[in-house]
Amino acid sequence: MTEASTPLMRQYHSLKEQVPNALLMFRLGDFYELFFEDAVTASRELEITLTARNKEKGDPVPMCGVPYHAAGGYIARLIEKGHRVAVCDQMEAASPGKKLVRREVTRVITPGTATDGSLLNAGENNYLAAAMIDGSRAGVAFADLSTGEFRVTEVPAPELPGLLDSFRPREILVAAGSESLAVSGVVTPIDEWAFGGDYAQRTLRDHFRLLSLDGCGLEGRPLATAAAGAALHYLKDTQRSALDHLDRPSWFERNDAMVLDAVTIRNLEMVEPLFAADKGVPREATLLHSIDRTVTGMGARLLRRRLLQPSVDLAEIESRLDAVAELSRATIERSRINDVLRTILDLERMLSRVTLGTAGPRELFAMGKSIAALPELRKAIEGFASERAAGLRDRFDELPDVRSAILDTISDSPPANLADGGTIRRGCSSELDELREIQTNSRQFIAAIEMREREKTGIQSLKVRFNNVFGYYIEVSKANLALVPAAYERKQTLVNAERFTTPEVKELEVKILEAGEKILAIEQRMFEEVRQMVVANAARVRTAAAQVAEIDFLTALASVAAERRFTRPVFSGEGVLRIEGGRHPVVEVLLEQEAQRFTPNDLYLDNRKFLAILTGPNMGGKSTYLRQAALISILAQTGSFVPASAATLPLVDRVFTRIGASDNLSRGRSTFMVEMTETALILNTATERSLILLDEIGRGTSTYDGLAIAWAVVEFIHQRIRARTMFATHYHELTALAGRLDGVTNLRVSVEEAGDRIIFHRKVEPGAADKSYGIEVARLAALPDAVVERAREVLALHERTERAVSDVAAPATGPVQVKLFEPVNGQLAARIRALNIDDLRPLEALQLLAALKDELQ
Ligand code: ATP
Repeated sequence: MTEASTPLMRQYHSLKEQVPNALLMFRLGDFYELFFEDAVTASRELEITLTARNKEKGDPVPMCGVPYHAAGGYIARLIEKGHRVAVCDQMEAASPGKKLVRREVTRVITPGTATDGSLLNAGENNYLAAAMIDGSRAGVAFADLSTGEFRVTEVPAPELPGLLDSFRPREILVAAGSESLAVSGVVTPIDEWAFGGDYAQRTLRDHFRLLSLDGCGLEGRPLATAAAGAALHYLKDTQRSALDHLDRPSWFERNDAMVLDAVTIRNLEMVEPLFAADKGVPREATLLHSIDRTVTGMGARLLRRRLLQPSVDLAEIESRLDAVAELSRATIERSRINDVLRTILDLERMLSRVTLGTAGPRELFAMGKSIAALPELRKAIEGFASERAAGLRDRFDELPDVRSAILDTISDSPPANLADGGTIRRGCSSELDELREIQTNSRQFIAAIEMREREKTGIQSLKVRFNNVFGYYIEVSKANLALVPAAYERKQTLVNAERFTTPEVKELEVKILEAGEKILAIEQRMFEEVRQMVVANAARVRTAAAQVAEIDFLTALASVAAERRFTRPVFSGEGVLRIEGGRHPVVEVLLEQEAQRFTPNDLYLDNRKFLAILTGPNMGGKSTYLRQAALISILAQTGSFVPASAATLPLVDRVFTRIGASDNLSRGRSTFMVEMTETALILNTATERSLILLDEIGRGTSTYDGLAIAWAVVEFIHQRIRARTMFATHYHELTALAGRLDGVTNLRVSVEEAGDRIIFHRKVEPGAADKSYGIEVARLAALPDAVVERAREVLALHERTERAVSDVAAPATGPVQVKLFEPVNGQLAARIRALNIDDLRPLEALQLLAALKDELQ
């Protein structure tokens, strides 16, 4: 018989067929084993030895295994690397007579469906996404099984990648065949029919026990319905248990929140530093970290979610700000709230494990304890008058019934596993208490028997003991066998001892074992009753958890406001963006750590002057200045106070950034291509209500191409978009635009020259800079003197030619006399040329400038 056809391997293959996309961990005794391709993959990923089964018979099957008790850690590593894992367990005890143990796939763990604490990050949602594209539209569903959140929407297909990026799902489901969707992350193709309209409708209606999906906002939205149905299908398929804590899918509009695309989130270092891998950049140098004072995982997730999707609803923002304002003045109450919050564990995630049946007695007890702290929390927010705080207090559900269902039943020190016994509190069931009494008394009886038999037989080493195979027995060492009474019945012979039983021991044994079994059964039943009670109230627990999160969120923002001297932003309907004494919340902290001071700066833009061109030396602080404006806007719309002495802001619908030349070679596009793609996205989607930051665009190509593009981009934004825009550049030629376009204003970062040294003041003021001081900054960076000197000579030569043709760069109307210097015998000689550039547009003039310069080479 070849290995493949043994009953065991046949069983393996039939189970593997059920989960073709997952690595199957097949329980064999004390190990989980993987075979064939799965074994090769797992041994590589987990760095464990690959062996072979059946090698000696010349039909080797690759295999590797991990001990079952340590499987959690290995599974976590496989999931982190983007794999799916199916766990196959033995469904009955192995017995010598029986050849093949029944086995079943008990759960499938995938990155997007993880609920185990070791696979989750407390402060982050763990989203599973399902996406369905049909022509120009896409339906998307996001589900977080670990919290119960379930949301759906539809967007134009080109916006799908951006939307997915902003939720950062751990796993994305697509219909088999459409894996090529331009999305990053773990993409899982599933059967196309799971996205089918009728099937999706039915799955959703059946699961949520609804007659119609209209109440979920899914009416007339077939793509969103398909995506939601597919997500639910996958969750059911992987979990194989009830999903009662999952919310009904709720409709949201992407434009209900300020849109921040992935590039912007990255450029602004909102949740991850740009160059985390670099030495010296602390991982915490992010906006989120700099303001995260939340105490619970629920609060941390809410803060993160709201920061990445700030509100565009003025009433909502003001309501958050009112509560933050009130809390920021109440130092003592804040610390009391935080004290209570610290005693509340992650209700959302505990609820999810209780519902899925993976929580043990300890976790259920911990949940009860956390719920027991809710009345304290409500008391802690009692004195607040803001509408939001008062609303929280008035609607607060303290869940007294759920609390008592848990705490009145589960004992104070429950075991980790139900099977270990002792889960149910004394006094809850008279039957249970009686059985426990029997168990305890019987144990005492056993002890008494031991004493009595020792005396009777005179064998001092006689023992009454228990094991799983033989039950209770009396053990007598070989040396004392002669003293054994005839009434003892032999049970087992060991090397040094014999084991016996007596009718009395047998009787007690039956009683004890029966009691043990009954106790376990009652404990299991009562635990299940409590669990079902919690599950039946899952929606209320979710609401209470959301309220805890909200309180944590508001208190955290109030703490930052108070600690960091943030001020309350004001929103103007008139497009005014006025920041006084603005600071960059992250750079400020980093500087403070090095005992340096951050220089606050002002900014003023409005509907008339809405596009600022910022010039100044390298290292002057341009990027920092740009980013702080965006961060202030984002913070404000999150509901936070802002790092400024005063701020009047417009309500921004999207923030766009194009900053630096970030390398994106991993996506197979050149740096310049990436830069242009991002710029195109901005020009195609920005609106008058957007905030655009452009930092050095056009730098990835030749100077003149770059300058020409930058010039044209500014014109386009000025004429077509009219968004509040800040453009930092070293192309000083662009400052000429302020004289030509009404909406453009020049800003510069000042610098002081002291001899051949420069002093950075990092102060931004009106006007245009004329130099970049790049060579001076290079000198500060310890470029060899010879290179610095030669660079100065070359620069001087260039500046002479540049001045000569500068009239062309900003042509007035009418013909222009241009003085050109041309090389003659290695020297530059002056020549006057009359150029009629009357009809030239600035861009063309720039190209002319380029051509003229080429002539000079
Ligand atoms: P480049 O043109 O070379 O890209 P830049 O003008 O964009 O430079 P930034 O990167 O913004 O300059 O800032 C350079 C450094 O100056 C930062 O590392 C920061 O520590 C410091 N800095 C920036 N702004 C301020 C400020 N307002 N107060 C104090 N230090 C600042």
